[in-house]
Amino acid sequence: MKAVRLLQVGKPLEDAEIPVPQIGPSEVLIRVAAAGICHSDAHYRAGVSKIESLPVTLGHEVAGRVEHVGKDVSNVSAGDRVCVHYLLYCGSCEFCVRGLEQFCRSGQMIGKHRDGGYAEFINVPARNAFALPDEISFEVGAIMMCSSATVLHALNKARLRAGESVAIFGFGGLGFSALQLARAFDCGEIYVVEINPTKLASATKLGAVAIDAKSGDPVEQIKEATNGKGVDVSLELVGSAQTMRQAAQSLGVLGRAALVGLTAESMSIFPYTELINKEAEIIGVSDHLASEIPTLLEFVRSGKLRFPPGSLRVVDLDAGQVNAALDAVQHSIDHVRTVIVPKE
Ligand SMILES: [Zn+2]
Ligand SMILES: [Zn+2]
Repeated sequence: MKAVRLLQVGKPLEDAEIPVPQIGPSEVLIRVAAAGICHSDAHYRAGVSKIESLPVTLGHEVAGRVEHVGKDVSNVSAGDRVCVHYLLYCGSCEFCVRGLEQFCRSGQMIGKHRDGGYAEFINVPARNAFALPDEISFEVGAIMMCSSATVLHALNKARLRAGESVAIFGFGGLGFSALQLARAFDCGEIYVVEINPTKLASATKLGAVAIDAKSGDPVEQIKEATNGKGVDVSLELVGSAQTMRQAAQSLGVLGRAALVGLTAESMSIFPYTELINKEAEIIGVSDHLASEIPTLLEFVRSGKLRFPPGSLRVVDLDAGQVNAALDAVQHSIDHVRTVIVPKE
């Protein structure tokens, strides 16, 4: 079968011809119908995030049709439309038994630790395959399995309840999902903090209160807009110490800040005034859980989470096109996501 693979870190991906994977008794073979090209894939190619064993087929945002199932598989059948939960887990370690498989002692991510979806076929354990409702296209089924799933996990970690106010720091692809998902939780007022005027305008259009961080301290602006109270939940999606600090400072009494963006910088907090006195919480968010996928699928199926037309671009399963898309991802700031759709 055809696959687009990373052979050497720092070099472009290459076209390869490799065998169709064999499946074990509890696995499924999926014919890939769509594979999302993600920012992390650009990091793997560049060596910013380390990949231990090469060559590997990248691609962790995958949807397709089940081709074959192993003899012990009962949750899906050949011909089913499915999307793939990208984290493979043992199911029996101290974390897996508590439903926290993102900390699995032997967890493996597809498209990083083992071959992913930039290929005609992929094999995964059957429990990683989730039925994709007919209302959801393969392309959307692929891209929702990464950033949108992680944003949903962030809102769950922050224990967002109906009526609570939310501040979203950063309005790229993650922020766009965050706004809709927060609303799917029936949240109260949403404040979107950004410096990009186009993104602020699109947040306003979606009913959020735009907070222009260029025109003044966003924390002050949020305090003012909430009559000095601060917000119940804040989401940091930028990945900078400054916005993380602001996300914490924007909280009101019993507020929760969920940090999703990645940074190696350190941040400072005044424990008494900013946390203790308010019983506020700062929460780290890592990946998402298989148990959250059904809720996410239902939000997309019912139209509560949408990916607007024009937000998806399609390329062939071809190294040249995939590398060009990865180059674009490295520099791009727009909402457009690229999805590989292999030719039948
Ligand atoms: Zn991704
Ligand atoms: Zn485990």
